[in-house]
Amino acid sequence: MVSTRFKEIVPSPTVSLNNKFSELKEKGENAISFGVGEPDATTPEDVIEFAARKAKEGKTHYTSSMGIKELRVRIAEKYSRMTNKDIAQDDVIITPAKFALNMAVQAVIEPGERVLIQDPSFVSYTEIIKIAGGVPVYFPSREDGSPDIEAVKELIDHRTRMIMINSPSNPHGWVASKEDMRAITDVALDKDLYVASDEIYEMIIYEGTHISPLSYPGMEERTFVINGFSKSHAMTGWRLGYLISPPGFTHYIDAFQQQTITCAPSISQYAALRAMDNTEFPEKMRLTFKRRRDLLYSILSKSSGLEIKKPAGTFYSFPRLRNGMSGEEFSVKLLEEKRVLVTPGSGFGPSGVDRVRISFALSEDNLEEGARRIVEFLG
Ligand code: PLP
Repeated sequence: MVSTRFKEIVPSPTVSLNNKFSELKEKGENAISFGVGEPDATTPEDVIEFAARKAKEGKTHYTSSMGIKELRVRIAEKYSRMTNKDIAQDDVIITPAKFALNMAVQAVIEPGERVLIQDPSFVSYTEIIKIAGGVPVYFPSREDGSPDIEAVKELIDHRTRMIMINSPSNPHGWVASKEDMRAITDVALDKDLYVASDEIYEMIIYEGTHISPLSYPGMEERTFVINGFSKSHAMTGWRLGYLISPPGFTHYIDAFQQQTITCAPSISQYAALRAMDNTEFPEKMRLTFKRRRDLLYSILSKSSGLEIKKPAGTFYSFPRLRNGMSGEEFSVKLLEEKRVLVTPGSGFGPSGVDRVRISFALSEDNLEEGARRIVEFLG
């Protein structure tokens, strides 16, 4: 019998539509996917070559459970520069980003305690919190995508331990301003909460600049930073990211890592070390995404059936449907009738019910054709 704990984990909400899309592709149909959650580029050549060289040199064994020292030092230096604080390499552990999220939550949550997450937010947050025995609680966003701080304050009670923030945000594309982040950190300091800051889209920003809550006074005692190389360097398959924890946590987090995944993949760690030197690739990709964002907007904004804004970051747009359909209904029909896949917004939180997520991590030709079909479908 499958355990109750396992039965309660909700699988990815997009599976059935993705399967349908794959069937259409297998039949040779000209189907276009706006569902992709990863850059369409291949990992930069220099990163692949460096990792391959390291593999040939025999770096194919377990590494230290915390990760290779060179990489941890580089990450500590990066965050020390970014935050103007002295971030210790001992507080950095190398691990896949999604595992970093899991460890950050499990490190602080007692059974039944609450973690505040933004509505809308990344589909995995609710399940990660539930796996940790916690209770996810959505807080609303304002129209511009920023957290509704007054509502956040009202939701906090004695069971609330953590607030999760994702700037730039998947799926909304919101990028926190200094004031937004100050408001969030003020609440965390005032109400004695931990902040888990998922900064995985840090390098994909078109308007604004990246700011980590870790930069704010006093936040070094209560911030977990989750980051990685998946989105910045098109490295999703390498499964490589990192977690920076407040002092006093890493010893326990390291023990958890030792008893679960042992260490992050050795070759991927060397790939990441090289990626840290490659700043050209993320910048080139950012400019490509910016062009596609503008192209998508220029086509979709012509339709009165959608309310669409240009996202300030990430490669996602999160328009609201104006034709009375739910995101779910729209996505099913759009795939059936126009062979175009988008992601229903409901999986990202209650506010996503009448929205869909449209990823622009696809070629410009496909993007143009797919967007044209969406406009046609909306009539
Ligand atoms: N956080 C957010 C907001 C994401 O969108 C994703 C992946 O889509 C992740 C974390 C997980 O990243 P990784 O695949 O590197 O574990």
